[in-house]
Amino acid sequence: MRPIRFEAADSRERTQIGEGLTRPAVKAGRLETGRKEGKYFLRHDDGCAACGAPVEPGEPFYLDPETGEILCEEHGRERRGESESGENAEVGENAEGGPDSGVAEGTDGSDEEPNGSERG
Ligand SMILES: [Zn+2]
Repeated sequence: MRPIRFEAADSRERTQIGEGLTRPAVKAGRLETGRKEGKYFLRHDDGCAACGAPVEPGEPFYLDPETGEILCEEHGRERRGESESGENAEVGENAEGGPDSGVAEGTDGSDEEPNGSERG
């Protein structure tokens, strides 16, 4: 699932959200209720999970519903664009020369050589 974009933050601490967004907010552990200004709020006082930038009032920001992370506009967009197709977005960069990719694929069956010796 891609990060959810919020058009404008209410404050650095929290932003009022509609009922439809309470589910990802709950899942992220960021839902605030019981305030007199509104019914549901998303807490984001920890700022962007990638760069630590605070969410500025009036500025857009993102919530990653899978990880529960808040992202600034730049990093939210980046994350959105990366996993555009396919739901199984794998974690971890597939950089070249990964040391941990020595996977033995079961039995190799190399002892099953055909017995036709043709040399001679
Ligand atoms: Zn950021």
